Amino acid sequence: MSQSTSRSVAVIGAGASGLAAAHILTQAGHDVVVLEARDRIGGRLLSAAPTTEPEGSLDLGATWFWDDERHVRTLLAGLSGSRLGSFPQHTTGDAVYQDAGGVQRLAGNPIDARSNRFTNGAASLTDALAASLPAETLRLGTPVTAIRAGETAGSGLSVHIPDSVIEAEHVVLAVPPALALARIDFDGQLPADLVHVAEETPVWMGAVVKVVAEYPEAFWRQDGLAGAAFSRSGPLQEIHDMSGTEGQPAALFGFAHTRTARTAGPDFRSAVTGQLTQLFGPLAALPLALYIQDWSAERWTSPADVAQLSDYSLFGHRLYQRPALDGRLHWASTETARGHAGHIEGALAAGERAAHAILHGLPDPNPKPTAVNSASAA
Ligand SMILES: Cc1cc2nc3c(=O)[nH]c(=O)nc-3n(C[C@H](O)[C@H](O)[C@H](O)COP(=O)(O)OP(=O)(O)OC[C@H]3O[C@@H](n4cnc5c(N)ncnc54)[C@H](O)[C@@H]3O)c2cc1C
Repeated sequence: MSQSTSRSVAVIGAGASGLAAAHILTQAGHDVVVLEARDRIGGRLLSAAPTTEPEGSLDLGATWFWDDERHVRTLLAGLSGSRLGSFPQHTTGDAVYQDAGGVQRLAGNPIDARSNRFTNGAASLTDALAASLPAETLRLGTPVTAIRAGETAGSGLSVHIPDSVIEAEHVVLAVPPALALARIDFDGQLPADLVHVAEETPVWMGAVVKVVAEYPEAFWRQDGLAGAAFSRSGPLQEIHDMSGTEGQPAALFGFAHTRTARTAGPDFRSAVTGQLTQLFGPLAALPLALYIQDWSAERWTSPADVAQLSDYSLFGHRLYQRPALDGRLHWASTETARGHAGHIEGALAAGERAAHAILHGLPDPNPKPTAVNSASAA
C-alpha cells in the first residue's frame, strides 16, 4: 500500500550537485529530502580505501579539481571540521609516450596539467556536504521511479519511490539528464524539445573504465618518471600518478573506453598490467591491487546507450537553465551547468543554480494553464 508524505523540496540524487543544492536549501530553512538510489552517496565521486594505508584513498571516479574552480574552493574553505583537504597533483619527472611502434620517454611532462587532489579522496567532498545536512534529510536505497505534475497550477509534484509517494513543492533533478529520462517515468508531461535534448545529452565519463593500480611504493618516481603516459595503442589511453601525499598510498590510474575493456573481456586485467610494465618497468607487473571501475555498467550513472551519446554541445543547454513543470522541476547535475560542465565544479554550480531558483522564485517561462483557464478552454 503506498503512503504519502510531503516536503517542501525533494532532491533526486546525492551526488555533488544534489548535495550542494540540499546544503544551500537546508541552510535557508527549507524542509528537504534527498532521495538517493544507491546505498551510498557521492555518485561519480567514489573513493576506495587502499590496501596498504590506514589513511588516504584511491579515486575510482573524479580525481582532480583546478585552481579556477570557485565552488570547489569555497567548500574546501567553508566546510571546516571535516576531512576535507587538498594537495597538488604530482607532475615532477618525465612522461612516457606509447604507440604501435613502441614506448618513448619524453623530456619533461607535457601530459599533466597543473591540478589539485583531495587529501582524503574526492568523495570526502560529498561526505562533508552530507554531514552538513540535518538528520533525516538523506534517504539511501531510494530510487525515484516516476514524477507527476498536479492537476492544477499551484499544486506541487508527486515523486514516486518504491511503496510511497512524496508530495513536494519543488523537485531538484540532480541526475544526468539522459539517465533521468531512462529511469524516471514523466508520463509524457515534459515538453517534447526538453525530452529530446535530455535524451541526447552525453553523461560525462559515462562510457569510461577507470583503472587504479596500487603498489607498495611509487617506484616510477625513483626512475625520474612522473607516472604520466599517453598511449595510442592502449588499452589505457592516458595514465597519471594517483599517489597520496608523501607518495602513499602509491598508485597509478588510467582511462580506457568501455568498448576496449568489453572487447578484451577477462584478458583486460593482464592487458593493463602488461601495458603498465611496458611503460614503467617490471615492478609495474605486480600491483598490490587492481581496481577496474566500468562506469557504463553503473545503473545509476549511465543509460544503456551511453556510448552512443556524443553531442557535448548540449551541455548547459538553455532548456536546463529554467525549471519545467509549472516552474517546479529544476535541473541540476554537471551536464546542465553553463560553465565547467562535466567537472565537479559544474555539478556544484548547477546545484546552486537550482537552489537559488527555488529560493528566489524563478518563474517558469512556459507555465501550465490554471484550472480556470483549462476549464474555459475545454
Ligand atoms: C571516471 C571519472 C573521472 C572523472 N574525473 C573528474 C575529475 O578529475 N575532475 C572533475 O572535476 N570531474 C571529474 N569527473 C566528473 C565528476 O565526477 C562529475 O562531474 C560529478 O561527480 C557529477 O556530479 P553530479 O551530482 O552531477 O552527478 P552524479 O555524481 O552522477 O550524481 C547523481 C546521483 O543521482 C543518483 N541517481 C540516479 N538516478 C536516480 C534515481 N532515479 N533516483 C534517485 N537517485 C538517482 C545516483 O546514484 C547519483 O548518486 C569524473 C567522472 C568520472 C566517472
